[in-house]
Amino acid sequence: MPTVLGLEGSANKVGAGVVRDGVILSSARATYVTPPGHGFAPGPAGRHHRRALLALVGDALGHARTRPQDLDAIAFTKGPGMGAGLAVVAAVARTLAQLWQRPLLAVNHCVGHIEMGRLLGPAPDPLVLYVSGGNTQVIAFSRRRYRILGETLDLALGNCLDRFARILQLPNAPSPGHHVERLARRGRRLLDLPYGVKGMDVSFSGLLTHLRETAFAMLAEVTERALALTGTRHLLLVGGVACNQRLQEMLRTMCGARGAELCPIDERYCQDNGAMIAQAGWEMLRAGQTTPIDQSGITQSSALLVQSGIGRTRSRSRGGIEATPTE
Ligand code: MG
Repeated sequence: MPTVLGLEGSANKVGAGVVRDGVILSSARATYVTPPGHGFAPGPAGRHHRRALLALVGDALGHARTRPQDLDAIAFTKGPGMGAGLAVVAAVARTLAQLWQRPLLAVNHCVGHIEMGRLLGPAPDPLVLYVSGGNTQVIAFSRRRYRILGETLDLALGNCLDRFARILQLPNAPSPGHHVERLARRGRRLLDLPYGVKGMDVSFSGLLTHLRETAFAMLAEVTERALALTGTRHLLLVGGVACNQRLQEMLRTMCGARGAELCPIDERYCQDNGAMIAQAGWEMLRAGQTTPIDQSGITQSSALLVQSGIGRTRSRSRGGIEATPTE
């Protein structure tokens, strides 16, 4: 029964998790918290991760009742993300892999979110709406690749909500979007806003000072178009913004109207976590795709990120994320 330790730290969260054959044994996480109104810079976030990660690895192994010798591989986030945090995670992963003499698995962060969603959901091949601080994409699996059908042309939805929260001086724990949602629930009047759907793509930059309902409606529209295009009956919502209840409601309504279903969302695993990296790594291990240490460098950019994960190569935009199925 292969058991994989996964390490994540590509943004302001750092985590370690253990997965064994489709079962999440543990997920320990810490957030680099900044004062309300402030974003986070890569350097201090990386230093936070460096201080926190070893204790999180200990917690993850302890909660999973797993010893280092029980592990079959060490998975880590190769990218995309912020360099300082990625470098800390990669250094710890390389050290543990050599210390414990276990293979390394370099995981694409985006694939980590998707594979965790697939593990938790009932649908093996859903349409995926991936919404987070760094990404906003409508993704479908076709002919051995994850195909990006549509995406934001500028800001990621989560980044748009984060910036909006910063303007309002809202706290960033557990997430800025959480506080935007809480305030929006009390709102009475919907402002008329620019609606930036361009084919299968969306644009949020003109919305920054306006927001939410309109941004979510735009995403529901392009996602509905992708459901129609692919004929898929299941929609999987992944990424940090997947926690947003209003976005879930709108997508559930849209899916219901066309005989499709929004897969259940487990908020514990929407935001970045180590278990999702362990799960994507577990799939890689099953496919025999380990990462030699001299190829375990990090990649900040999402462009041309060579992904190991289940053999996926993410190229810019329409190129999609290449995937070699594991079975
Ligand atoms: Mg993420």
